[in-house]
Amino acid sequence: MCSLPNKNLEMMNSNGILIIREKGKTCFELLEEKLYKIGRASSDEIFLSSKGISRTHASIYFSDEKFWLVDGSLKGKTSTNGLFVNDEKISVHQLKSYDVITFHENIQAIFVQCGDEIQLNGSLEKFLTKTFDFLNVKQEEQKKNASNIEEGMGQAQSALRLPQIDDLTGLPNRPAFVSRVQKSLAVKNTLLEDHQFVIFFIDVDRFKMINDSLGHLAGDQFLIQLAERFKACIRPYDMAARLSGDEFAILLDNLESLDEAIIVAKRLQNNISKPLFLGNQEVYPSISIGIASSQLQYQTVEEILRDADTAMYHAKRAGRSRFIVFDESMHQKAKELLQLDGDLRHAIEHQQLQLYYQPIISLGLRHLVGFEALIRWNHPERGLIDSDIFIPIAEETNLIYQIGMWTIQEACRQLANWKQIPAIQIPLSVNVNLSARQLSDTNLVRCVKDLIEKYKIADDELKLEITESIAMENSQQTIKVFNQLRQIGIPLVIDDFGTGYSSLSYLNRFPIDTLKIDRSFVSRVNPNTENTSVSIIHSIIGLAHSLGVKVVAEGIEKEEHMDYLRQARCDYGQGYLFAQPLTAENATAWAERGLDWRWVPI
Ligand code: C2E
Ligand code: MG
Ligand code: MG
Repeated sequence: MCSLPNKNLEMMNSNGILIIREKGKTCFELLEEKLYKIGRASSDEIFLSSKGISRTHASIYFSDEKFWLVDGSLKGKTSTNGLFVNDEKISVHQLKSYDVITFHENIQAIFVQCGDEIQLNGSLEKFLTKTFDFLNVKQEEQKKNASNIEEGMGQAQSALRLPQIDDLTGLPNRPAFVSRVQKSLAVKNTLLEDHQFVIFFIDVDRFKMINDSLGHLAGDQFLIQLAERFKACIRPYDMAARLSGDEFAILLDNLESLDEAIIVAKRLQNNISKPLFLGNQEVYPSISIGIASSQLQYQTVEEILRDADTAMYHAKRAGRSRFIVFDESMHQKAKELLQLDGDLRHAIEHQQLQLYYQPIISLGLRHLVGFEALIRWNHPERGLIDSDIFIPIAEETNLIYQIGMWTIQEACRQLANWKQIPAIQIPLSVNVNLSARQLSDTNLVRCVKDLIEKYKIADDELKLEITESIAMENSQQTIKVFNQLRQIGIPLVIDDFGTGYSSLSYLNRFPIDTLKIDRSFVSRVNPNTENTSVSIIHSIIGLAHSLGVKVVAEGIEKEEHMDYLRQARCDYGQGYLFAQPLTAENATAWAERGLDWRWVPI
């Protein structure tokens, strides 16, 4: 044991004491400097110094009346065998009195912060004796725990740790992740301004499809395998955690720059997208990642997680299977969306929602067959807002149930109205778009039934559209609801067909009336050259007709598109060439006038 200076603790000009025990030998260090490195120099012993250490095992930093212990050097190099405080592996830790630090197997230290009431009175000798006693008791406890585990009594111990671990994947869970990020944030905000870390907010793409098609057990296996891949892509002192369901998060700590995070994100995307097997089924996973960096001066974990989540949402909307780094403009956008959400709540009662109607034309018979109802929001300050902007907000906030029902009701009312106008000679139908959420609305079928009875809508006059990707993602539910709707005389339309990668044979399972070819194919049609769009359109029409399903081509803007589609035996067309979406008043005039299109015979 080292010799003890014969003075009282109060007189010592130090903020903390570290008592180190190595190979039965004990020494202590009064912590007076701001930064200490703990490691090995020339001698074989653990060494605590403010300079001159060749390989840093840990660092102790004093700032703002607090001591911080960091695994490795502050520049981000961690130690090879890790650092433990009170048996917990740590990367950053705010030291408290009587924390027991384990550097190596046989090297332990106990920390005491001066100023804590426990050790202020008495001589240093007395204090150290008390501390050693404490350390001895701790060590005894550790030995006992270790042998308990060996004897198979470790379950109680691991049960204690359960709340920190996700049962399924074995990854840390949300509370564990939050507390770890909290520490990194505290280091940055109180200790080391240059400390940099990033958060990845990860959502598995189309996980629901795997669950629905292969079952929950396969879904679980899928998540377990993904978790393994996450772990394989990060360094030992980073953390991958499962937040909930198919949501994961990663903390990359001690970064030199954001570029390092980008490299990891690319590696992650790459590794994750390798095929994996669930039983005999080969699946191709993909993930969307939102990245938030500590450079944006966050005060709370919630803030940084929120921004990473927002960036992830942008990645999803941009087409999934990608990463996006959060920036301030997204925050601005998110705030605007929040404002819009507030306004949207008043939109229905203040009659700001309006349906526009875009004509659907029979390409063969050359006349109007109906309209697609497209919703607009007449915002008092911002003018006419497109559905693309506010429908996603309404979906997130569940307002879509109300808005969706309003749309169906308004379309039925308008249809009934048109049926009363003698000048409109032709039978008309109206297509209404359904959003994904509405498919899970247990009241949907009953409400639609009530409305068609109320407005005396005949079979096939009201059609409901759902996009291909939504139909495929919720295939079981979609088939169930489609069957119920079909029974009450509502034909169903698959919208934006060709973008959802559904296998053509799968289509057979849906009771559908019409397919709408997505406008991206139509706009790329060049009838003079054989291109992919032409072949795709041909096969869609061929397949649909063989299944007894009609085809609408969306987004016809040029005469050459229309000519080609008529030749390809496409049944119906819709697009700016005929008309933009019209107000109800203009649509009525259109229906009364009939087509003023000059048809060129084929
Ligand atoms: P959608 O159902 O595929 O509707 C067709 C979209 O293409 C409409 O955009 C329409 O204005 C646009 N369009 C039509 N012809 C052309 C053309 O020749 N060229 C181009 N470039 N575009 C054309 P809109 O009205 O902005 O609607 C966008 C999407 O928002 C719709 O896609 C639909 O998925 C959704 N939506 C619209 N109204 C509703 C609604 O009442 N409920 C729900 N759930 N979704 C709606
Ligand atoms: Mg549509
Ligand atoms: Mg469409």
